[in-house]
Amino acid sequence: MGMKTSLVLLLTLLVMMRGLLALTALFVAVLGKDTFEGHQVLRILAKDESQLAVIKELEDMVELELDMWRGVSDVDTPVDIRVPFESLQSVKIYLETQEIKYSIMIKDLQAMLDEEKEEMQSAARAAQPRNTDSFDYSNYHSIDEIYNFQDMLVAENPNLVSKIVIGQSYQGRPLNVLKFSTGGTNRPAIWIDTGIHSREWVTQASGTWFAKKIVTDYGTDPALTAILNNMDIFLEIVTNPDGFHYTHNSNRMWRKTRKPNPGSSCVGVDPNRNWDAGFGAPGASNNPCSETFRGPRAHSESEVKSIVDFVKAHGNIKAFISIHAYSQMLLYPYGYTKTPAKHQAELHSLAKKAITDLATLYGTRYRYGSIINTIYQASGSTVDWTYDQGIKYSYTFELRDTGRYGFLLPAKQIVPTATETWLALMAIMNHTYQNPY
Ligand SMILES: [Zn+2]
Repeated sequence: MGMKTSLVLLLTLLVMMRGLLALTALFVAVLGKDTFEGHQVLRILAKDESQLAVIKELEDMVELELDMWRGVSDVDTPVDIRVPFESLQSVKIYLETQEIKYSIMIKDLQAMLDEEKEEMQSAARAAQPRNTDSFDYSNYHSIDEIYNFQDMLVAENPNLVSKIVIGQSYQGRPLNVLKFSTGGTNRPAIWIDTGIHSREWVTQASGTWFAKKIVTDYGTDPALTAILNNMDIFLEIVTNPDGFHYTHNSNRMWRKTRKPNPGSSCVGVDPNRNWDAGFGAPGASNNPCSETFRGPRAHSESEVKSIVDFVKAHGNIKAFISIHAYSQMLLYPYGYTKTPAKHQAELHSLAKKAITDLATLYGTRYRYGSIINTIYQASGSTVDWTYDQGIKYSYTFELRDTGRYGFLLPAKQIVPTATETWLALMAIMNHTYQNPY
């Protein structure tokens, strides 16, 4: 069947399904909280470039309301898509008519979400932590719990940790950054952020674990002690607080900021497409309903602008590490252009060292390379901007897993994920400390 014919078939089916399901949608709206009843995550494997192009076209059909968990990359990399119940039949038929292979990665998303929620609630019923030693690192936590954790850590370690508020989110939440410092003024620094995409929960959870690890290892681990005797570390754990709050209270799958878009009913901007580095180039969307909407202009999101202002005012940041999930990758600039970064060779060999160290613990395998060559073209991303600001060691992580659970990584994997990632972070931080520039 030709592509045109099958597109028509697809749309006809879609319209029919929609009518039948209007009642379901109404029911969901009354409940107030989005449910993902009947949603599936499909893993699609293209066999050649032309099939990739067909999948890409699917991605652009906004009315299907597909959610790209892992977008179109290359023939060797599967595409993971969350498909709402209303579109499921149409998408499957469409793929079958195009002879594109797919498997069902997550059969019943809501069942997995229910399980996650149940686990969180039983953990929360346990006594509230009185200090950071009794904090439950192997469970997911709300924004209030993480903010409390930060304040406890500061109170317990006044000579090492302080909290800086670098700005406010769109909805007025503080953008808290933990500063780990043993003194000096404007020392060379390392920046780490987690959770700029709010649904990537293992990242904020790992960030919390990193914070505790830093205060535990200072004075006992010689490498970290040497780093902190000469450099500062800044850690922003909840980088997209409005989105994070929303993932806990309304829609677990929320990725973007929560700022409304004038003229559109769709909310939010992708804060990892909003930076002034190739802004507006291919690799981001100009459609407010897209998960990769770049925003009306570069740095339009206060969550991004606050970091921009902080980095510029500081002026002495030497490594910038922005942490995402999932896919198990360690990436460096560029995402917006194929032109190799000036320090490509060094960035590449350091990435290799970092992922090799990471793998020593549990054998977790990472891919590594430049963003554009390893995943796909992405414009306006964080580390392209920081690299262009002169921060040589600019890296992005994609933590566990490779798709079995995707964004819904079971809580029992938090500590193993954080622990192995720490080895890679130490490799980058140590190299930064030993190679001043
Ligand atoms: Zn992300």
